Amino acid sequence: MNNTILSLAPQNVWKHFHSLNQIPRPSGHLDKIQQFLLEFGKNVGIESSLDEVGNVVYRKPASVGMENRKKVVLQAHMDMVPQKEQDVAHDFVNDPIQTWIDGEWVRAKGTTLGADDGMGIAAIMAVMEDKTLKHGPLEALITADEETGMFGAFGLKPGTVTGEILLNLDSEAEGELYIGCAGGEDLTATLEYKESPVDKDDIALKVTLKGLRGGHSGMEINEGRANANKLMARFMNQVIAFDEACLVSWHGGNMRNAIPRECEVVITVPQSEEEDVLAYVAECERLWNEEYGVIETPISFKAEKVDLPKWMVPEEIRDNLVDAIYACQDGVLRMIPTIPDTVETSSNLAIVNIGEGKAEVKILARSSRDSMKDYLVTSLESCFSMAGMLTARSGGYSGWEPNVNSPILKAMRESYASQFGKEPEVKVIHAGLECGIIGAVVPGMDMISFGPTLNSPHTPSERCHIPSVKRFYDFLVATLENTPIRN
Ligand SMILES: [Zn+2]
Repeated sequence: MNNTILSLAPQNVWKHFHSLNQIPRPSGHLDKIQQFLLEFGKNVGIESSLDEVGNVVYRKPASVGMENRKKVVLQAHMDMVPQKEQDVAHDFVNDPIQTWIDGEWVRAKGTTLGADDGMGIAAIMAVMEDKTLKHGPLEALITADEETGMFGAFGLKPGTVTGEILLNLDSEAEGELYIGCAGGEDLTATLEYKESPVDKDDIALKVTLKGLRGGHSGMEINEGRANANKLMARFMNQVIAFDEACLVSWHGGNMRNAIPRECEVVITVPQSEEEDVLAYVAECERLWNEEYGVIETPISFKAEKVDLPKWMVPEEIRDNLVDAIYACQDGVLRMIPTIPDTVETSSNLAIVNIGEGKAEVKILARSSRDSMKDYLVTSLESCFSMAGMLTARSGGYSGWEPNVNSPILKAMRESYASQFGKEPEVKVIHAGLECGIIGAVVPGMDMISFGPTLNSPHTPSERCHIPSVKRFYDFLVATLENTPIRN
């Protein structure tokens, strides 16, 4: 059963995918796969090496008559996400991946399949091995530890690859060509303050917001979902203005790259305002469910009385913090002018923690254009500095700015149309890809990302669409044959 994928077409690609699945390769445990890939290079007679951060590099000369073509780098990542069903006994560091065929799909038995990005490597191996293909000079860059932070791409040294064109084989929908991705940068704003005592005659309320969908802060930022910290800022602004509310603590969101789904504050108010505040909580819940009705699952916004704490955020600091959270840019800032319906620049007001003398706000900014990312992060810095907070940038990485006039894009569009009788879709992804990082190390490279169709990668339901693998590989071979001539 495990071997039945060997009979699938194209056989050379499935053969290599099968042998890759015998080699355990979860992120962080790459010795075996590196040895395997180096050995393979030697066996098929191409130059192969390992760079200092664990990337495997192949070089193959042009086939006869194709020496004048631009040099192409084929790129994939060697690690896979180790996820399994709870009741499956599988040791990702030692056990091979067991595959089976489910109709038009190849799946694994209770684990991730590793087609992300084993299919990319299998295609590279097939190209490296085949002596009958027509292609210009080739390099392959098989990167280490993409899934846990793109470490191989980040560690790439200038000169490791020298091609003018890079074909990244790590996309998940056959028929789509990716020509750009977003870079990102984290901004953290912090403040320490001396707490002030609460009014002994006040009462305390814990106000909890739940039920939002959240989602990926890049890919789903344009869907108009609610941000829990933003909704809470609207509530706080009003109860401070009309009910003499004081702030004790605020906790909203827990991951930078997820739209925050929940938020909880503790406030104090004079007893005489309790009824008003509770009525306003109910009003917010009604209003937000109306505003976000078709997008969110029912939003729950509730208040309950809790014991009166001793300390709270001083009034002036509270006002500054609530104002800054209220004003902070969140969501889509700009769409890409040259590509329809595609986000260029966005931010996610991800995490707010206030209490016990400390305030911390974390935002993730993304853009496919580095200058727009910098503009956005600077505007976030301005917003939080006005509130007297310290700001610090971290984790910045480059985006991949789409070039709709790219020569390889033109060649691949024509080649796809003539092969399959339809236009490929051209897209930009609002999340990080290795191309952004590699493009920053090797500036001016003309890049495209494509791949066969995969569903549910990073989960035990990961599956690879069999017919799409043939189309993907045929398209890759045709692309190599049609590579533009060197200038
Ligand atoms: Zn991948």
